[in-house]
Amino acid sequence: MDDYDVIVVGGGPGGSTAAGLIAAEGHRVLLLDKDHFPRYQIGESLLPATIHGICAMLGVRDEIERAGFVRKRGGTFKWGTGAEPWTFSFAASDRMAGPTSYAYQVERTRFDALLLDGARRLGAEIRQGHRALGTIRVGERVGGVRYLDEAGHERRATARFVVDASGHGSRLHHDVGGTREYSPHFRNLALFGYFEGGRRMPAPDTGNILCVSFPDGWFWYIPLSDTLTSVGAVVRHESADRVQGDPDVAYSALIEDCPLIEEYLRDARRATEPPYDRLRVRKDYSYDRTVLWSPGMVLVGDAACFIDPVFSSGVHLATYSALLAARSINSTLAGFSDEKRCFAEFEARYRREFGLFRDFLITFYQLDSDEDDYFRQARRLTGHHGAAEAAFAGLVGGVSSQDFSRAMFGDVLAEGVQLQLRGLLGEAAGDEPPMFPGGLVPTADGRRWRVPDA
Ligand code: FAD
Repeated sequence: MDDYDVIVVGGGPGGSTAAGLIAAEGHRVLLLDKDHFPRYQIGESLLPATIHGICAMLGVRDEIERAGFVRKRGGTFKWGTGAEPWTFSFAASDRMAGPTSYAYQVERTRFDALLLDGARRLGAEIRQGHRALGTIRVGERVGGVRYLDEAGHERRATARFVVDASGHGSRLHHDVGGTREYSPHFRNLALFGYFEGGRRMPAPDTGNILCVSFPDGWFWYIPLSDTLTSVGAVVRHESADRVQGDPDVAYSALIEDCPLIEEYLRDARRATEPPYDRLRVRKDYSYDRTVLWSPGMVLVGDAACFIDPVFSSGVHLATYSALLAARSINSTLAGFSDEKRCFAEFEARYRREFGLFRDFLITFYQLDSDEDDYFRQARRLTGHHGAAEAAFAGLVGGVSSQDFSRAMFGDVLAEGVQLQLRGLLGEAAGDEPPMFPGGLVPTADGRRWRVPDA
């Protein structure tokens, strides 16, 4: 039986981030994915903190810059009571460094493969076409994984830690204990597909995500290249019957009910090349977990939680939680601090970041407001003292100002700023204050925890 320091299940953004940042510390890491890459996934609109922070730490930022993805400066919304679409730009955030005030719209087939290659270069052993079946217990701890190899033979591997990064369809997440709790606020379902030849917004907002509400929900419209567009309908639970029957008929009918999207697609035709040649449905995707780790095992990304696509927070939360988990595992393996303290820091930071997006989204779905109300809500929630639009841009960019109310949220978003700086400046980024009283802070390279200086 093979033995590793860490086994990571899942090679999406969460798994690649965890595997890469643990292997970079010299630990023996095995990553298993049931699929062969490139493989399809939804979640194409990214945030600046992922590109300039996490991707830089993984050593893939330059490759991503060269990959030709569509540059996203912000978002345009036909949302709320205003008659006209409104636009925010990441650059409006007073605390987002100028050169990093953009993200990308990505084809996940290519983006995820770049991250997985980055993890391999950092030293992780990657096995594709290998499906995890369950965990192995060693006394009170999770101590390994049972899996099927490519030939369909059942194998076992042991490790001091197992990271479950196997996404929303995880079969392992129960093994930390606790339950998955579905959100009472977000019970939407999504029907999505791809078009060639859709209209583009005028410069400089050509690469923005466009979100348009309509009576039964809202549409995303994401430019993935000059010609390819991802178009998804997010339908309210109460209108779920609109997605019954033939998906093509339902999709066309929903587009007809959303005049701005219909107009943008007037000269477009459905994409015919795989993986963009068919419609897909996702539901039951808004959930949290009562328990996120147990001795020897930790959940990251969608295996742990996801809230809603409107602010493109999924890949951000997956990579951010993987960074937090990697710090905890690296610290414990190095004998630096006790496991419980490290994972308490992981859990506290992860829950705060998730909670911030969740709480803001609950107010954002109240459509009897206008953009100024949303901007003010962002300022109220983050305790930002500057312009309300800046508070909004910082919040939905995965970063925010350092002067928001610590009583409410501590430095949860300020760490987004630090992540970007760390990606850009490496160790020169300097110390971060503890986020919680008595809490740990990251080491200068961001890959472990340490006790803050007294
Ligand atoms: P995944 O990307 O799902 O990767 C999990 C990996 O685990 C897969 O490669 C899978 O093959 C592998 N795996 C699964 N089971 C096993 C097993 N048993 N053994 C081995 N391997 C296994 N996020 C954004 O950031 N922007 C968006 O615009 C956005 N839009 C969204 C729209 C919708 C409708 C939905 C539902 C989600 C959206 N998301 C978006 C969220 C995004 O899809 C996820 O948050 C993100 O992909 C999570 O990354 P992950 O690494 O946790 O999991």
